[in-house]
Amino acid sequence: MRIAIASGKGGTGKTTVSVNLARTMGVPVQLLDCDVEEPNAHLFLAGNKVKEEIVTIPIPQVDEALCDGCGECSKFCEYHAIVTFGTAPLIFPEMCHGCGGCTRVCPKKAISEVGRRIGVVETRRSENITLIGGRLDVGVAMSPPLIRAVKERLQNNMPAVLDAPPGTSCPVIAAIRDTDLVLLVTEPTPFGLNDLALAVDMVRELKIPFGVIVNRMGSGDDRIHDYCGKENIPVLLEIPDDRRIAEAYSRGILMVDALPEYRNQFQSLISKAAEFEKTRSL
Ligand code: SF4
Ligand code: SF4
Repeated sequence: MRIAIASGKGGTGKTTVSVNLARTMGVPVQLLDCDVEEPNAHLFLAGNKVKEEIVTIPIPQVDEALCDGCGECSKFCEYHAIVTFGTAPLIFPEMCHGCGGCTRVCPKKAISEVGRRIGVVETRRSENITLIGGRLDVGVAMSPPLIRAVKERLQNNMPAVLDAPPGTSCPVIAAIRDTDLVLLVTEPTPFGLNDLALAVDMVRELKIPFGVIVNRMGSGDDRIHDYCGKENIPVLLEIPDDRRIAEAYSRGILMVDALPEYRNQFQSLISKAAEFEKTRSL
């Protein structure tokens, strides 16, 4: 089963939920840190890096001897990453999404592709968790290809928890697409509700089953529960605003290791997710 942890905004406790959920599974599990612009799951887990792989995307390279300046490549590129003025094209690598379209449409076969590094994928081991995380290079604004590279390393023979980037744009969609269940983490505040509603629209559009986790319960009001009740969305876990959780983290200990009552709560979340997998009726 592949469970994505997402949230309409950053700072809601998405990574906290991801690492504690993965730890509680107790069986070998893959934890994918898809928040490639700001990966931080490794900060919560002791363990060693076992592999680092460079990720590239194919960008065009033009053979000016073959190019007649027809402009077909420029017309095709939605991202304005290849531009012609009746001459051999100019290429803007930082805007290229590596889709390969310009190479295909060039009637003169003047375009070949070269790899452009966008980041790395690191693999770490920590007890039952294999952590696979992407890290985008500084100055690169193209996170979906790196997220896809992280997801290409998923193995089908074990469960996976995917820590998605915050928000509701392309990187999040790249992370949660093809997962079995999305858990939307929010907090009981006006901002939390606003961003949750946007995230709900997104997962409904993608037709992925989902539930809500309310973090820092007690720090706000009932608006999230009221909303979920009205929208018929299950609240699958509530994490109280508990100072002991922050204290455990400051000592480098996961919530489920330091405070056994939370392990029970995460176990109950896993049971609900498994039940859900069976019924697909949430
Ligand atoms: S499509 Fe090919 S031939 Fe035409 S301008 Fe682009 S590179 Fe040159
Ligand atoms: S590979 Fe795609 S995004 Fe990049 S320049 Fe060609 S058409 Fe544009």
